[in-house]
Amino acid sequence: MADILQAKGIESGYGNVQVLWGVDLGVPQGSSVVLLGPNGAGKTTLLRTLLGILPLRSGSIRLDGEDLTRVPTERRVRAGLAFMSELGVFPNLSVVDNLYMGGYFLPRGEVGGRMRKMFDLFPDLARLRRSLAGSLSGGQRKMLGVAKTLMSRPKVLAMDEPSAGLSPKYVKEVLETLELAHEEGLSLLIAEQNVLFLEHADYGYVLEGGRIVAQGSAMDLKSDDTVRRAYFGMLAETRPQET
Ligand code: ATP
Repeated sequence: MADILQAKGIESGYGNVQVLWGVDLGVPQGSSVVLLGPNGAGKTTLLRTLLGILPLRSGSIRLDGEDLTRVPTERRVRAGLAFMSELGVFPNLSVVDNLYMGGYFLPRGEVGGRMRKMFDLFPDLARLRRSLAGSLSGGQRKMLGVAKTLMSRPKVLAMDEPSAGLSPKYVKEVLETLELAHEEGLSLLIAEQNVLFLEHADYGYVLEGGRIVAQGSAMDLKSDDTVRRAYFGMLAETRPQET
């Protein structure tokens, strides 16, 4: 499957501190890709660079064949690259109004239909349509964040640590939400520290010290010793003891 999002040789950082060193990453059309890495590895920096929030020092970015390397963030978003950070919703607005905000750039005539589609996909949100986003549970808020982003029919949704601050129950809800979005045909790029997300992804990259140090399917990565040691903690149980 061709890559809908393709980043090559990405270098970026803050001031005179370089954080990313020649990162190559692709998101195949319709797939779910997870970017794993410990604190400070550069995951957020990579997502922000892809979105153009941080300037690119070197490298190239293409979305669905379109060169986005030098275009401003707003053009990237309009081209179909959506970003959901931790603060994905407006807490003082209702569920419906958040969805309206998400559909801001849609042609007027399409907003109602798109919103019905979101309510079909996420019946919990239909039930809570008049509630303030700030009154929802952590899991429901992430669901609303995803639905709000989906309103604009993005091609790729990049998310920064969707599990941050959530209890395991809500993490499970987020995984279910992402599965539904994925089934809708959305391509996903998810930066995470929680290895559970790899289990649900088609492909994974491991970023450490601003460099990709491993990549492959969940199965490939689980059999990579370095990744197992860092993320699965099961090396000792599954390998014969060396004498
Ligand atoms: P985390 O999960 O902790 O957010 P991360 O993998 O997303 O980790 P980044 O936030 O991208 O990592 O940080 C990568 C490096 O860049 C770290 O060394 C961090 O200290 C540094 N950094 C991040 N933001 C800034 C900033 N605004 N100014 C200077 N350095 C920064």
